[in-house]
Amino acid sequence: MAIAGEVSTQELIDKLNAAYEKAHVQYEENFWATKMDLKGNSPEALAASKTAYEAFLGDPANLTAVRRALAEAAPGSLSADQERVLRIMERTFKCYITEDPKAAALKEKINNLEAALAQSRNQMSLGYTDPVSSEFKKASSVQLRNLVRVSEDEATRKAAFEGLRSIGPFVGAQFLEIVKERNKLARLLGYEDFYDYKVTSAEGFGKSRLFAILDDLEAKTAPIMTAARERLAREKGAAALEPHNISYALAGDTEKAQDPYFPFEQAVDVWARTFAALGIKYMGSTMTLDLCDRAGKYSNGFCHWPQVAWRRPDGTFVPAKANFTSLATPSQVGSGRTALATLLHEGGHAAHFANIDQPSPFFSQERAPTSVAYAETQSMFLDALIHDGAWLGRYALNRNGEVIPWPVIEEGLKATQPYEVFALRGMLAVPYFEKALYELPESELTVERLLSLADEVERKVQGGLSPRPLLSVPHPLSDESSCYYHGYVLAEMAVRQTRAYFKSKYGKIVDNPAIGKDLVEGYWRPGNGAAFLDLVLGLTGKPLAADDWVRDLEKPLEQAVKEEHADYEAALAAGPALKAGDAFDLNMHVRLVHGDELLADSEVDGGLAAACEKFKSWVDSKYLAEKQQEDAAPMTA
Ligand SMILES: [Zn+2]
Repeated sequence: MAIAGEVSTQELIDKLNAAYEKAHVQYEENFWATKMDLKGNSPEALAASKTAYEAFLGDPANLTAVRRALAEAAPGSLSADQERVLRIMERTFKCYITEDPKAAALKEKINNLEAALAQSRNQMSLGYTDPVSSEFKKASSVQLRNLVRVSEDEATRKAAFEGLRSIGPFVGAQFLEIVKERNKLARLLGYEDFYDYKVTSAEGFGKSRLFAILDDLEAKTAPIMTAARERLAREKGAAALEPHNISYALAGDTEKAQDPYFPFEQAVDVWARTFAALGIKYMGSTMTLDLCDRAGKYSNGFCHWPQVAWRRPDGTFVPAKANFTSLATPSQVGSGRTALATLLHEGGHAAHFANIDQPSPFFSQERAPTSVAYAETQSMFLDALIHDGAWLGRYALNRNGEVIPWPVIEEGLKATQPYEVFALRGMLAVPYFEKALYELPESELTVERLLSLADEVERKVQGGLSPRPLLSVPHPLSDESSCYYHGYVLAEMAVRQTRAYFKSKYGKIVDNPAIGKDLVEGYWRPGNGAAFLDLVLGLTGKPLAADDWVRDLEKPLEQAVKEEHADYEAALAAGPALKAGDAFDLNMHVRLVHGDELLADSEVDGGLAAACEKFKSWVDSKYLAEKQQEDAAPMTA
């Protein structure tokens, strides 16, 4: 039956919007319950709701109906909104349609394999052998990475690093089964391999185009990395290059000196004021934050949206509901800074997605055809503030309200700025590893080869074994985050370019309410209705390029110190736009939870500031009081 006029076209749009919204909410609620290990969660229900969600996105009848509505509409009969919605629906369905029943069966098989791998990884007895007591101590991968960074004892760092390296052999066999099936699926669909399939769906260009960009960046930064490794060996001795020493050599002292200026229990309040002073609003959305680590919880911070923001045809706006998690252990050194960085990052994603204002939920989903690079640009732009003298001089205060002193920042700069290239190379290693993995002939897909391939890529891209072993990175394992780490690289490129643009336009980013407005208009509002590269060009006025990033990496340390010092002094003189206790409004409902437990709620507890206070008390009693007792114990014993 032909779709005759505006009424039935709108009916089709309404029907698809409603069906999409329902499938998305059900899948995301199961995703959250499973990853947070909530009571009654079920990996089977997660797999079933994921299959249902993908079945909706992958139903050829939907694509046919949308195409027919576009093709058969009389000229001028579609409104601009209707046409745009039909186009984004067509683009979305094209990412997921598997008309071949063989491919559909394969997809279901892969979903089940992934659910089983996620479950065994969650239940893995991960930890390290304490070098003093020879006792096995349980620790999540985040806790292990933190130990590798901050433990003063080399043997402990080595043990924690070996704990991280134990993930590869544990997940290897199950992961390889998934790799084989993913490649089978991609080739069935006409792609070179799974990486090519994923990048084409997510970014709209293929593997060869992507790696042309990455190869250029790799080539330009290889000599910078070599020089940085030589510099580190000169300054701290050759042993500092060992994978269990390098993070500590780079950040151990710095982090400890900075730690008092990032009190964990104040992180939520500091994040909220930072965003409010940038003019960021959350459009009435609700955010649930589960910030602390615990056994059984998924080992990577993330932010997802069971309810995505969109505007109904009657003009009412549907605000987003976001679920947001980090893995803090508040009594551990570095946890407050990590929590704040995660809040800036995941809260940045949430701000972006809360501000997408389009006539269909299809524009604001986080999966393909939403570009990973586009999404990460927003969160990484905001988490970059934590390094700025302009931000530190305003918001990094200790529990007595004293601002972080300049020498602490300067020491940090001296310890990190010449080595920033390592972070870039660490990011680059993931896409190069996944590319090589999906290009291996099936006969070579053994656990031994998987482990040696990871080591080879680490040595080639990072100059030696990585302090974060490639197989401990959770992204390659799960479908939605596999073959997408390049998005972080492209995003960082865009972040450097956007920062340079704002600095030349306004002179400052921190406490500048024009930034939030520019981000909403230039990057956030269109959602995935606009192409990432077009948005960057539109906002910054030039095509995305590595120039600003390479310039930062090549900047002499003395110049970087001078610039940051000037920003810091200006920050001290000005003070924060919003001090602790000042009234502000993010237009957001915040719930703070710990698994099934509701700790604080901005609507019930009388505002966000009051909820932050309540959360602070919970942290104090659960973690910090206990730690004070432990610290005091040897003296009283
Ligand atoms: Zn992110």
